[in-house]
Amino acid sequence: MKSLLTTGNRQLSTLLRVVCGLLCVLCGPISSHALDREAFTFTLYDLEVRVAPARQWLEAKGRITLRNDSAEPQRVATLQISSSLDWISLRAGGQPVQSLTQSYTSDVDHTGSLSEALVTLPQPVAPGQTVELEIAYAGIIPADSTRLRRIGAPASVAARNDWDQIGESFTAVRGLGYVAWYPVALTAASFSDGNEVFDGMARWQARHAKSEARMDFCRELEGLTGNLPRPVLNGEELPMGDLAGGAVGRKAEEERPAVCRRYRFAALGFVAPAFAVGNYQTLRQPPVEVDYLPGQQAAAADYAAAVPGLEPLVTDWFGPLRRELHIIELDKLEAEPYESGAVLFTPLGTAERKALEMALAHSLTHAAFDSPRLWIDEGAAHFAQALAVEQQGGRAAAIAYMGNQRPALVEAEASPPVPAAPGTTPDTTASQSLISSADAVFYRTKAMYVFWMLRDLLGDAALQRALKNYRAADDKAPAYLQTLAEAQAVARKSLEWFFDDWVYRDRGLPDFRIAAVYSRPALGGSFGVTVTVENLGGAGAEVAVFARSEHGQVSERVLVPARGKGVARLTIPEKPNEVSVNDGSVPESDLANNSAPVPEKPE
Ligand SMILES: [Zn+2]
Repeated sequence: MKSLLTTGNRQLSTLLRVVCGLLCVLCGPISSHALDREAFTFTLYDLEVRVAPARQWLEAKGRITLRNDSAEPQRVATLQISSSLDWISLRAGGQPVQSLTQSYTSDVDHTGSLSEALVTLPQPVAPGQTVELEIAYAGIIPADSTRLRRIGAPASVAARNDWDQIGESFTAVRGLGYVAWYPVALTAASFSDGNEVFDGMARWQARHAKSEARMDFCRELEGLTGNLPRPVLNGEELPMGDLAGGAVGRKAEEERPAVCRRYRFAALGFVAPAFAVGNYQTLRQPPVEVDYLPGQQAAAADYAAAVPGLEPLVTDWFGPLRRELHIIELDKLEAEPYESGAVLFTPLGTAERKALEMALAHSLTHAAFDSPRLWIDEGAAHFAQALAVEQQGGRAAAIAYMGNQRPALVEAEASPPVPAAPGTTPDTTASQSLISSADAVFYRTKAMYVFWMLRDLLGDAALQRALKNYRAADDKAPAYLQTLAEAQAVARKSLEWFFDDWVYRDRGLPDFRIAAVYSRPALGGSFGVTVTVENLGGAGAEVAVFARSEHGQVSERVLVPARGKGVARLTIPEKPNEVSVNDGSVPESDLANNSAPVPEKPE
């Protein structure tokens, strides 16, 4: 479970970036001019999807509503599905529309390519106006990791990450960013180009934050009897209502009986529809539900049993659970877990209770707390994982846990900024700010540290109150969280400097060094120690400074501004022999210069 949700994207993108330097010529997008693929927002999907596992088959038909969110009237709408699927029918107002279908190279799909339809609309759609299209498409969804293999990822890495497929015995398929099994429209993105794929997905998510999908999802039975394997999706399940042709949830069409379920996805910016079909049994143990495969009952019970020990921690920090945690088992033990809000697709391995708690704290936080901002949504969930480790093993264990993720952050902060367009100057300070970054190491790891530092700045109770006052719907300005936090701070102390250095701008990391130390005997045999800490980095922080003697240590927190100094004045009961700065709770670029001996005589 270690890799869960922490460094996956980053490792992958780093690996791919390295490998791809040699192979970029293979990965470049097909150029297309004068076509704005991202002009339309898909505001509503209303689809019936049928899956036939025995044939690896998926077919879908229904309606989609597109809104022109560009500034220009649009005559052509772009619709993209995975390259293993084919368009069958495209109509508007009941009439076939003219369209050009082509293969379009892009790494947003596991096949590395999309079946793209360029649909000529009956009339131009003005900015802000919508158009409804009737669509049908079908094809197979086999396991495919072309996009990773062609840039040199080892087969095992590719299989671990791109595990999506419709298979005879087990099916699991994710949406945007993995398999375009419902139509999307994105400008081509390649893993060989920095964060292009993740940036493209982030743009899509932002545009589709309020988009909705309704799906009748059917699993064809194909001769199956008895226990009917049911599809499971990561959306809200609705009653079947008028869909049921005969028995509830069963539908016979063209003599192909199926088990159907109806799902609604209320905010596609946050949840990419994903489905799994397997011989699932369900373990319901509120607030958790585990869909597990045959023989996995004990593992499912372990997962469910890890939740009660976590629930008080999560609700203390983030408020009551708003939804259940839903765990859906993946059949391959090596598959990387995939999270979608409070739904977690994961292999159910044997793991110790502590490891399970650490992993599940993440998804349980998503069940209690939502934010439209990636860094807050994911940062809070990773922060909760560190809190779970702290609950088990104390503060030092939590800091060590965060410290395992620090090298990736140091590396990311040291990476050159995304190249700027020709003729412009690269913006080295705003490109990876937490409010705009689509790079997982920033919105996960750096954001986790930011929450931990806020906690140390404000105290637990104050940050807990601020988080409980947080309302996703009210988060309309980047400074919203800062305002909530300042309202709870002692004496309303300003946090502007902190948010400016860590959230609104990317100023890199601090680098503390001990600039000067001196100690002198004080009253009653104790010693006064004065420690000057210098920050060589671009981000300021409040950091702990320690003085150690043979039998103990004392500490004080000091604010050390970027490229500035801070002074700690400590009193220690016996002769100090060493001072140091930073217990590891502030991520910094160089930990090698953080301690110094205390000189025998004052300098
Ligand atoms: Zn998450």
